[in-house]
Amino acid sequence: MPFHHIIGHQRPIKWLQTAVKINHLGHAYLFHGEPAIGKRYTAMALTQLLHCEHRQNDSTPDACGTCRSCHQVEQAIHPDCLLIQPEEGQKQNPKIKIDQIRAIEHLVIYRPLVGSHKICLIDDADTMTIEAANALLKTLEDPPDHCLFLLISSRPEHLLPTIRSRCIALRFAPLPIHDIDAFLTQHTSMKSNDTTLVSAFSEGRLGQALRLDPEELKIKLRQYWALLFGEPLTSAAQVFDMSESLVKANQVPEAIYWFQQALRDVLLLALDESKTPMFYRDQVHTIQQLAKQITPSAIIELLQELHQLERGHQRNLNMQIRLEQFFFHLQDHLDLVSTHE
Ligand SMILES: [Zn+2]
Repeated sequence: MPFHHIIGHQRPIKWLQTAVKINHLGHAYLFHGEPAIGKRYTAMALTQLLHCEHRQNDSTPDACGTCRSCHQVEQAIHPDCLLIQPEEGQKQNPKIKIDQIRAIEHLVIYRPLVGSHKICLIDDADTMTIEAANALLKTLEDPPDHCLFLLISSRPEHLLPTIRSRCIALRFAPLPIHDIDAFLTQHTSMKSNDTTLVSAFSEGRLGQALRLDPEELKIKLRQYWALLFGEPLTSAAQVFDMSESLVKANQVPEAIYWFQQALRDVLLLALDESKTPMFYRDQVHTIQQLAKQITPSAIIELLQELHQLERGHQRNLNMQIRLEQFFFHLQDHLDLVSTHE
């Protein structure tokens, strides 16, 4: 995937193209930003550019994307490139191990066969074991001239500071939702309503958008809307049952996520009634009613409470009682029942 196929990220791409054009590329870069946002695609595009047999050399240098070298880079079999990533098959907390980093030594001994650089791309670089990180550090301290290291991470704070300080950091920001919508419209067979729905849930991450299934999203939307604003909220007994079953099914984090999106929609319309809900678009009429019933400050309080619940869950606090409290506070604002008995 050459640069001209990548959606967004103009700033880091322009930076890299300029560095290539004026022959001023550094030895090591750290591409950081949210997961599934386009960091690895950009690293692959730079790798293709430096090895392409028909490279475009105008003001925006780019690979052709179709020559033998470009294909080899895309398939991670180019002789001058090495792709390192956490080893497959490790179920929990996959790591990059020292043996994988040692393979770099073999890569960098000789000058490149085809392009200008030997390139080592390390994806999820923050998963290196301490031994692997120290081994990489040694290479980064004195890198051969023809070598380029591209480290990719969504958790750069987990990298050794000594590694970070040897890399030029390029930040990748989330994409505008309309860019994701446009990409899905052009490159997938999704229906128009579905591209809007999926892009709203993508958090500005194209990789995430491509993984989401609109039909699954619609099922969750119906399920959690019914829990939050449906029948269960009208009686205390049902609130107890619902809270208990969410905890027992280990569904609390998921429920918090979907409740947050629902309240964000209500807040959006409470602040500006001409807006369209972002997530629960099928519930527009109910959301309009709710937006008149609950004040923006009350919605913000409920959102803060959900945020506290999220943090409580991470700390294993008693979630059932906290969930019940949240539902009762929501009840108070909606004036659904006069008492909690
Ligand atoms: Zn090419």
